[in-house]
Amino acid sequence: MKMPKEFKAHCPFCKKHTSHVVERVRKGRATSMAHIDRQKQRAQGIGNSGKFSKVPGGDKPTKRVNLRYRCSLCKKAHNRKGFKVSKFDLVEG
Ligand SMILES: [Zn+2]
Repeated sequence: MKMPKEFKAHCPFCKKHTSHVVERVRKGRATSMAHIDRQKQRAQGIGNSGKFSKVPGGDKPTKRVNLRYRCSLCKKAHNRKGFKVSKFDLVEG
């Protein structure tokens, strides 16, 4: 998909619609996977690791895009939930 580099969106800091600049970031909001890590820890040791012995598969056809939206008025950035697309381009205007 194509997305404009700059567009109007609601700024949670200014509490109104302002112009936002889009930046691509590698990671979105941090999710807590602590319970999975504990499960993995338990699976280690002697014997089969159960569901954690699965071989990771190949690349998926779509990747999640994480963006940061920076308000041009207060210069603060906020995140939105990432979405999955196969192609992502930021276009001028
Ligand atoms: Zn703002």
